[in-house]
Amino acid sequence: MKIRMVSATPMALRLKEPFSIANETVDIGENVFLKIETDEDITGWGCATPDSVTSETKETVINCFNNVIKDILVGEDPLRVNFINDLIEEKVNGNPSLRAGVNMALYDILGKKANLPLYKLLGGYKDKIETSVTIGLNPTDTMVERAKGFVNRGFKCLKVKCGMDADQDIEVVLAIRNAVGPDIKIRMDANEGYTLEKALRVIETLEKLGANIEILEQPTPAKYLYALKEVTSQCPVPIMADETALTLRDSLKAVKMEIADMINIKLMKIGGITNAIKANTFAEIAEIPVMIGCMNESMGAMAAGVHFACAFKNVKYADLDSALDFEQDIVKGGAHYENGFVIPSDKPGLGIEVNL
Ligand SMILES: [Mg+2]
Repeated sequence: MKIRMVSATPMALRLKEPFSIANETVDIGENVFLKIETDEDITGWGCATPDSVTSETKETVINCFNNVIKDILVGEDPLRVNFINDLIEEKVNGNPSLRAGVNMALYDILGKKANLPLYKLLGGYKDKIETSVTIGLNPTDTMVERAKGFVNRGFKCLKVKCGMDADQDIEVVLAIRNAVGPDIKIRMDANEGYTLEKALRVIETLEKLGANIEILEQPTPAKYLYALKEVTSQCPVPIMADETALTLRDSLKAVKMEIADMINIKLMKIGGITNAIKANTFAEIAEIPVMIGCMNESMGAMAAGVHFACAFKNVKYADLDSALDFEQDIVKGGAHYENGFVIPSDKPGLGIEVNL
């Protein structure tokens, strides 16, 4: 099999509501759709979601695609996923979301060729995963309303954004706990917004008042490795590294240094499924569970996260909710939601249909 033609098409997808976290607010999700056509009757689709977290823009992705990636891909055998991944890793600095989009399109082709849904091709450990749904920063009443809305739709796990104002965070989380009852899981994500002292104060206060937090994600700034390690050793709630575990190498460092109790792998940070498998493997050996997270990803990208998550035992947590956030996605299939779980498509490959 040979790759005949490749293309990258940017698409700004409007969010239903502006989304705020401790370091930014956005109202669109930039997604770049990648199409890989072969000399057989098989086309692979992937999607890159550039983000400030990975120092990418739509422009860096398109430039790199046109100037470097195209030449690497055309004429290659798309089934040699690991070989192509190596070629790309050698030549491309940064642009992890683009590397992720290309890598998932190759896996899409592999799955279609094998006539297997990707999660089964990768090992098929489970056929669904519970996901959290994210509540962005807003006034307390709005956050409580959103929490209740999600719970009414069957979601059983909430990820509450925090990190801007510790006292408001305590108030919000207590109000949400009060509104949704004791059986709903509540995770918090500070997106680097706390100091060590603040993180400990927030969690100790919430624990004393019975908020029962499942996970606190990235309390302290990514670059202060020892601050995060210190929170992890002192905090009664499990700590997850997200921004600290940006690249494959960062993730290895986080695991080796035991900086956090768990790590959040996002395909867009780590550069695709091939790298995510490596990170999950060393994390599993170190007995560090993995969460699969997402950026403002169309289902075209998020579906790859669902397939990856379901393939492996050690991917124990998921925060795969971005496909819920758009006014209109251009992708059908891939995965669907049921009773708080996200379930990958059983069609071959990623199982997505892209209507550009
Ligand atoms: Mg996070």
